[in-house]
Amino acid sequence: MSKQELTTLRADLRSVPHRQALHQYLRGEGTSNPSLLQNAVFVSIRRCWSPHPPYNLMEIGLAIYNGKQQQQQPAGPHGENVLKDVRFLHLRFREQASGQLPNGADPTKFHFGTTAFVDSKEARSLLSQIWYQPMDESNPAAGFRPVICLMAANDKPTTPTDNVNFNPAAIGTTVAVLDPEIVAVQSAVASFPCLPVDKILEQHFSITANHPDNTGNQAAYLMIMVVLAALRHELYHDPQLNIRDIPGQYGQSSSKPAQDVVNYLMDHESPEPPVGTIVYCPRCASSDHLVMDCPETFVLCSKCRYAYDQTWRIPNAITHKDEACSYDY
Ligand SMILES: [Zn+2]
Ligand SMILES: [Zn+2]
Repeated sequence: MSKQELTTLRADLRSVPHRQALHQYLRGEGTSNPSLLQNAVFVSIRRCWSPHPPYNLMEIGLAIYNGKQQQQQPAGPHGENVLKDVRFLHLRFREQASGQLPNGADPTKFHFGTTAFVDSKEARSLLSQIWYQPMDESNPAAGFRPVICLMAANDKPTTPTDNVNFNPAAIGTTVAVLDPEIVAVQSAVASFPCLPVDKILEQHFSITANHPDNTGNQAAYLMIMVVLAALRHELYHDPQLNIRDIPGQYGQSSSKPAQDVVNYLMDHESPEPPVGTIVYCPRCASSDHLVMDCPETFVLCSKCRYAYDQTWRIPNAITHKDEACSYDY
């Protein structure tokens, strides 16, 4: 894909509200180059950084819709024909896995797929595979597919550089960065920007979000919410019963509750992440077992135990051994 065509598509998407840009993509229409837009990849990214020095990335949640040429079909009840093609991934950084997450979330409660333990190099390699997907595998000259990124405004590192140093907005293939909070407000499923995604899902779509603070689940729920919100008219409109497109069991969504669609996504696990290991113990740093199977019941990290200049590390010392410590000192 030529750079000029990507620049034009980026300008087209920037000229319309976030909700409309997403709607155009999901319907495969509306820009000056609909076939290029139809080839775009839609990626929801949610990240979590350590609240303490060195402020490294601890986790990444990803939901990736690769639905090339799917846009011409009906979206199905609650967008299930779109959502069933979404792949969900959750990455935890090995070197950060012994630390506690700032929001108190449980990193083991990812419900949509597999969690992989990665190092920074593996994470960068996976992100680059997602952001640089060839338009045509047999013809490298055809360039890369455009990427539409779903990312909240507060999803940014505390320091200018972290262990991964990844800024989706700065990548040449990114043609739009859509804010899920803005999509929600523009679709009238939230009245103000900071309404948490689990509240929107509950109030408007009767979907219960399980462990919504888990970074992987966050990325998944944000993707589900914006797809339902942007396609409101198609999913819920009924000329007699629901002329205002109020979410619920109307129109093409009358056959089932939205929760059934989300349950299906959780029951049918996504493929495993192509990088990292799925077994790792953040207590003893072994790759043979998970923390719940750890034979080491009494552990103490001497680096954290004696971190008198960073006293917030001391209580965490009993959760891991020196080998699994996030800190070099
Ligand atoms: Zn262990
Ligand atoms: Zn430690």
